[in-house]
Amino acid sequence: MITIKDYALPDTLEEAYNLLNKKRSNTVLGGGAFLRLGSKKIGTAIDLSKLMLDAIEETDEFIEIGAMVTFRQVETDPVLKKFANGILSQAVKNIVGVQLRNIATVGATVYSRYGFSDFITALLALDTKVLLHKRGLMRLDEFLADGAKNDILVKVIINKTGRKAAFNMMRNSQSDYAILNVAVSRLADDWKVIIGARPHRAAIAYEASKYLSGSDLTGESVQQAATIASKELSFGTNIKGSREYRRKISTALVKRAVLEVLA
Ligand SMILES: Cc1cc2nc3c(=O)[nH]c(=O)nc-3n(C[C@H](O)[C@H](O)[C@H](O)COP(=O)(O)OP(=O)(O)OC[C@H]3O[C@@H](n4cnc5c(N)ncnc54)[C@H](O)[C@@H]3O)c2cc1C
Repeated sequence: MITIKDYALPDTLEEAYNLLNKKRSNTVLGGGAFLRLGSKKIGTAIDLSKLMLDAIEETDEFIEIGAMVTFRQVETDPVLKKFANGILSQAVKNIVGVQLRNIATVGATVYSRYGFSDFITALLALDTKVLLHKRGLMRLDEFLADGAKNDILVKVIINKTGRKAAFNMMRNSQSDYAILNVAVSRLADDWKVIIGARPHRAAIAYEASKYLSGSDLTGESVQQAATIASKELSFGTNIKGSREYRRKISTALVKRAVLEVLA
């Protein structure tokens, strides 16, 4: 059970950031769904609800998703349902149930860099940057590698480059975490292959992406790309599945996702 000593509803991001950095136990709240599973003793709980971070906005060049946007918004938003074959909506629609998706937020998910995340895998297949209050704008893959300390994720910004994309995952039941998830995207000859929930954090399979980008895209080369991806990334064992099982199903999921993008 978590305990919360004080509660703050800041008017500005700077105020929220200063509060966060005032004391180690001060904590930013997203939807609170993950925090409440732990036993953290929170000094001041910092609620970002007044900062207008709960919108999905589309411009000519970008789609911007605020940190307080929920997975349910991502799932049902008319723009995201179409954008890049609806990959983001597809990625979140199987996460537990509507009640959880109504509270789990984009900012918390991306900032926390959860290995099991379906959403991060899909985001990584797009041309995505994250905006942090102090550290500023950075590419999602760089942020996933480095993380950030005591910062606040403000929004996720996706460049509307025109990628076609597909998301696939394997889970034992709808309410369970994915055993593995895969996202693939294509922009002309440039392919990206991503594998997440390995159970390590989602990562780009660079060799497989490069191979696909230069290939003739026949059945054989798609199979070869999936094999390369399964060899270049590391897989691990946990209660959901073994390293060997994950490696095996990765080839099937990558192949399926590439074929979906080609279709
Ligand atoms: C039972 C359960 C099952 C789940 N299953 C899946 C699944 O199958 N697939 C999947 O992809 N996800 C799954 N999730 C994760 C879920 O999708 C969210 O990623 C998770 O709940 C975090 O969102 P939240 O808003 O609840 O975060 P919170 O619990 O509010 O916060 C989580 C952490 O993020 C920090 N934080 C919050 N907002 C910000 C911000 N803007 N900037 C910086 N730090 C911030 C908080 O301080 C905290 O440390 C599951 C979660 C739960 C509770």
